[in-house]
Amino acid sequence: MGEIIRAVAADDRIKIAVINGPDIVEEARRIHGLSPTASAALGRTLLGASLLGNALKGEKDTLTIRLNGGGPAGSVVAVSDSMGNVRGYMDEPAADLPPRANDGKLDVGGLIGRDGTMTVSRDLGLKEPYIGSTELVSGEVGDDLAAYLAESEQVGAAVGLGVLVDTDKSVRAAGGFIVQLLPGAPDELITRLEDNIFYMDQLTTILDEDSPEAVIAQVLKDLDPRILSREEVFYRCPCSRERLAEALQTIGHEALEEMAAAEDPTEVVCQFCGKAYRFQPEELKVLADLAKSEAAE
Ligand code: ZN
Repeated sequence: MGEIIRAVAADDRIKIAVINGPDIVEEARRIHGLSPTASAALGRTLLGASLLGNALKGEKDTLTIRLNGGGPAGSVVAVSDSMGNVRGYMDEPAADLPPRANDGKLDVGGLIGRDGTMTVSRDLGLKEPYIGSTELVSGEVGDDLAAYLAESEQVGAAVGLGVLVDTDKSVRAAGGFIVQLLPGAPDELITRLEDNIFYMDQLTTILDEDSPEAVIAQVLKDLDPRILSREEVFYRCPCSRERLAEALQTIGHEALEEMAAAEDPTEVVCQFCGKAYRFQPEELKVLADLAKSEAAE
């Protein structure tokens, strides 16, 4: 289980959402067999997606963050529902890099790469999802998300995302925050907030040794923060046979007919949670016919 806490400060001119989610990242590590740097890369992306997803209005809305940075990780993908429950995967979960030479931290930017884009799509149940995309800044995810929000959504926000991996490779601490100044905030308030973020302890240290409330207290130091809500969030995959069958149709009728021609059932594994679904040849034939008739329309 993880938790998202929302708070406001400075007479409601600042709002913050903090997530504490080591269990979510540990679950991702267990499912995908993530390397330490991969735990940090996918973990930060999951935590960011959860924070943004939790702000969605419609119950069935979903939000997807996709990072394509050209690094050894390949694509990194995280999907959140409107509660902030998340799931995700990356192309190369075992890929790893040595720690950064200058500070010994996990080299997330190197693993994701910096030569590419962050794409955020919001599926709000309309005909087309709302999609925005920006160039990666550092591949460290938090900076990239802040740049995305500024450029693509004109939202001025500071984003912190962190994952601390223990010596046995398990996830020891993981969390993040998005803090946003509402329009018209005076300069001294902006400076105060920037100073607080600059001088705060390392995010994962606060979460490891203290609490998400302590993150709020440090980011909003001397700004009179007031907690509004607390919500539980989980690593959760809503996959089902029906959803997998729908996804299968998109591979085209020729590929499906080939699978249907095999004597044995075909096993399809959900890329988000690793659950396996078996499809019998006759089911695949039905899907192939459906795909063919849809292609002919
Ligand atoms: Zn699944």
